Amino acid sequence: MTPDTAACDVVVVGAGLAGLTAARRLWQAGLSVVVLEARNRVGGRVLDVPVGPGPDEVVEQGGQWAGPGQQRILALAREFGIATFPSYAHGVSVLASAGRVRRYRGTVPPMGWWTLAGYARLARRIDSLAAGLPPAAPWRAARARELDAQTVAAWVGARTANGRLRMFMDLAVRVVYGADPEEVSLLDFLAAVRSAGSLGALLDDAQSIRFVGGPAQIPARMAADLGKRVRLAQVVRRVDWEPGQVSVRTDDVIIGAHWAIVALPPPLAARLHFTPPLPAARDQLLQRLPMGSISKVNVVYERPFWRSAGLNGFALADHGTVRTVVDNSPPSGQPGVLVAFIAGSDADMYVDDPQAQTRAVLRALTGFFGEPANAPVSIHATDWAAEPWTRGGYGSYSPPGALTRFGGERIRPIGPVHWAGTETAAEWPGYMEGAIASGEHAATEILGQANGATP
Ligand SMILES: Cc1cc2nc3c(=O)[nH]c(=O)nc-3n(C[C@H](O)[C@H](O)[C@H](O)COP(=O)(O)OP(=O)(O)OC[C@H]3O[C@@H](n4cnc5c(N)ncnc54)[C@H](O)[C@@H]3O)c2cc1C
Repeated sequence: MTPDTAACDVVVVGAGLAGLTAARRLWQAGLSVVVLEARNRVGGRVLDVPVGPGPDEVVEQGGQWAGPGQQRILALAREFGIATFPSYAHGVSVLASAGRVRRYRGTVPPMGWWTLAGYARLARRIDSLAAGLPPAAPWRAARARELDAQTVAAWVGARTANGRLRMFMDLAVRVVYGADPEEVSLLDFLAAVRSAGSLGALLDDAQSIRFVGGPAQIPARMAADLGKRVRLAQVVRRVDWEPGQVSVRTDDVIIGAHWAIVALPPPLAARLHFTPPLPAARDQLLQRLPMGSISKVNVVYERPFWRSAGLNGFALADHGTVRTVVDNSPPSGQPGVLVAFIAGSDADMYVDDPQAQTRAVLRALTGFFGEPANAPVSIHATDWAAEPWTRGGYGSYSPPGALTRFGGERIRPIGPVHWAGTETAAEWPGYMEGAIASGEHAATEILGQANGATP
């Protein structure tokens, strides 16, 4: 079948928060846009599923929390009339460490004073290194090469022999990237800390605010504004470009435009067929930005039984499949939901065996919260590495060397082809906030050209 053809000013590839933000900005500024989305839904890595009859009874399978300072996502929620509520935090938390399950109050796990003192020292050092990075271009820091030549694990290992402290830092990297500390460049980690303001803010505050009814309402509302300009079930396969024009092809349509914005996770952008081929540096960058691997498992109970036992539903473990659990109930507290994260190499053994993963999750939850955790009413698991139009999560990370060699290519347009997606953001890369910022940036670049001269 011959594909249909159509023309517009800007064709956007991907209807996640980044692509939708860019498209909406450009459309509001009077340019014509088409958004091509592979899935049958918008939102990409933001996905909510219902767990009850009420509109607020949803669980987030992907992007979930916002934090203080994430102005863009919070402003969009306000614009669409979506209320926020704090993550549940009343009661005591659970720490499973060295074969024991212990309860503790406050935000600091009972790791022993020696470990806590070591953590405070490491955190101070991390905060001070992070504060010295140029905000949008960490690869320009004076010590960038040295910081980018080592993984977080190597840096931590050189500073402490304390096994508990190493495990805690391991957990921190998994929480941020869904990757192991042996995989992630120290410079990349410091840049994430810099975005948040401090290590403490990255690990705690960034997970403090939830959206009533779930964050997937935000991309849904943006797409509703754009109406028929968003075309679902359109897998983009080719991008043919020359100065001033570009044509983007799916199996059904060929869209000709003055500009394109590719708003995909980097490994998926690398799978598009570009003619002429991408310049070497851009391609080298795309070869170096793997996605983390994360399985997010929401386990639903009739009621949040742990709350009546004085627990807040938060659990940390320094070993095992499930190392982080959070109370993920809707604002009403009905039904009760615990969300378990399986991050980095912990997810590997379950790649082909979701039932074994479910058993492991229930075993872990029962260990943390007691026998009632073994009687859920439903379980909702998403293994993001298995999602063909995402292929991992939370986002991509930089292994050693990638940022200093190719970081400058992250947002450099190639002729009429511009780049968006959370991984290209100067602030909060990897987060919903970063996705929105990246869409704004790409739209601003194109509007600058549209208002100035020909592209
Ligand atoms: C489990 C999980 C938990 C997370 N938790 C949080 C959190 O609590 N807070 C937070 O801020 N962030 C969180 N994130 C990260 C956040 O969800 C992402 O940073 C953000 O949603 C990325 O948006 P994006 O538009 O850049 O990319 P995406 O959402 O990945 O959008 C890309 C779009 O492109 C589409 N696409 C792919 N290939 C093609 C193709 N060939 N043709 C056409 N379309 C294509 C995809 O279907 C997708 O819709 C989480 C992510 C995951 C996976």
